[in-house]
Amino acid sequence: MKTETTIQGLNAALASARLARKTIGFVPTMGNLHEGHLSLVREAKKLCDVVVVSIFVNPIQFGPNEDYDNYPRTLEADSHLLADVGCDLLFAPTVQQMYGDHVRKTSVVVSGITDLLCGQSRPGHFDGVATVVTKLFNIVQPNTAFFGQKDWQQLEVIRAMTRDLNLPLDIVGVPIARAEDGLALSSRNGYLTEQQRQQAPVIYQSLLAAKQSLQSGEDLSVVLQNIRDTLQQAGFEIDYVEAYTPHLQSVQQFNQDIMLFVAAKLGQPRLIDNLLVKYIPN
Ligand code: AMP
Repeated sequence: MKTETTIQGLNAALASARLARKTIGFVPTMGNLHEGHLSLVREAKKLCDVVVVSIFVNPIQFGPNEDYDNYPRTLEADSHLLADVGCDLLFAPTVQQMYGDHVRKTSVVVSGITDLLCGQSRPGHFDGVATVVTKLFNIVQPNTAFFGQKDWQQLEVIRAMTRDLNLPLDIVGVPIARAEDGLALSSRNGYLTEQQRQQAPVIYQSLLAAKQSLQSGEDLSVVLQNIRDTLQQAGFEIDYVEAYTPHLQSVQQFNQDIMLFVAAKLGQPRLIDNLLVKYIPN
């Protein structure tokens, strides 16, 4: 596997693949890779000839009180993991390489669906994501890009942006990779103390219980409140527990397929998860 840190180097490394019209699959990440990221790379390997992974901790998607400075940076270990799963090219640019010294005058802003869920507690976050992903798409010029369903709202934002701007690539969503006890894998899980790590699977357990209640006819608002109560009793500080359609339209009752969304803090780390609940009319 090659590693490139500059756009020029990346272009040189991809020149022959582009010339031979090989399909390029792209997996953007912030590094500190785990099985969730690797499942995206494996999916990309299945569908594309050449797989490019980027590792870039993007400063403009972090709020002033968020963990940009402390975000885990583990490039050495990451590059071994990527080589093992057959990634062809790792692009690991510096902030200088991505943003230069000039004042950036352009942002990519997706409206509406960025105002809810994580958009409420992380103002500007999705502008930062949409902007860096657009830049990375233009740099890598992939045929297909792969994103995790763990960040469902992010996936919807990228899909909307790609459609609205006619970006010439396909977006593929990859299911959430979980630990054996159900906790959605995340780079932020590393911040959990041992005790918090034991409590953390309560999020997924409460989502599964909610799904069962909904499918047995329980009222949506009661089910959402039950999740909140369960999480609060387990020591979580809730950011949101909400339901929307898969395309993030609001829902009042369970009369179509819905998604349940949770964001909650356990001590410092903020964890997110989601679950699709299929509506099965009787
Ligand atoms: P990040 O490095 O956190 O920006 O994540 C990079 C990509 O990996 C995003 O598309 C995430 O949605 C995806 N990802 C992170 N964790 C998981 C997971 N547990 N399962 C599936 N995809 C994931």
